[in-house]
Amino acid sequence: MQSNRASPPRVLIVEDEPAIAESLDYALRREGFATQTAATYAKAEAARTWPTLIVLDLMLPDGNGGDLLRLLRAESRTTPVIVLSSRESEADRISALEGGADDYVTKPFSPREVVARVRAVLRRLAPAGQTEPEPPLQVDRGGRRATFSGKSLELTRVEFDLLALLSENPSRVYTRTEFIASVWGDGFAITDRTIDSHIKSLRRKLTEAGAPSGRIQTVRGVGYRMASPDDLPAPDDGGAASEDGPE
Ligand code: CA
Repeated sequence: MQSNRASPPRVLIVEDEPAIAESLDYALRREGFATQTAATYAKAEAARTWPTLIVLDLMLPDGNGGDLLRLLRAESRTTPVIVLSSRESEADRISALEGGADDYVTKPFSPREVVARVRAVLRRLAPAGQTEPEPPLQVDRGGRRATFSGKSLELTRVEFDLLALLSENPSRVYTRTEFIASVWGDGFAITDRTIDSHIKSLRRKLTEAGAPSGRIQTVRGVGYRMASPDDLPAPDDGGAASEDGPE
């Protein structure tokens, strides 16, 4: 399937307790991350240049995770590190954070919590829109098929073409003239109102499929653009993005 998907972020899981390593590995892979696990300090050191982010246990059979953190920072590697530790003392937490850790999770934790923190750290550090491992919206231009979170969207020809154009270059604003040229062809007398009503119907189908409202944004007086997931308000904060048609 064709898509604009970037290669997934790579997470190195350094953890010697198999049950924890496996549950993290499973949770991260399910969310679209590429993973590698290392159960020893030696393996972690050997793999340290591979990952986008490291989840790092401090107590390893052959060494201390904190030393790997210091090694990375001594090599000027900025790879984000989330430290895992069963030791709950404030001193360990402070020492890890001062040693250059980006976040700290105390055992026991849920794998989902760690996944959420991985996402948060990557979002904080990377340019917007480049951290989601697998964008839920997939547009397969060749097969003329669009899915949201794996669910097929039942779109009309015009709706599909509008969506394909918008998602070609997310965050770029497309004008109504461009929509007409791309979807209907130059020379067709298509009114703004017609485009707006197709967009309205497309928005409805996207939100019905579970997309956050505001995914297609109106740029007043110009046209429409696709909002990146990071631009969107959290589902419960009222929806700051404009869903209105143009005046
Ligand atoms: Ca351990």
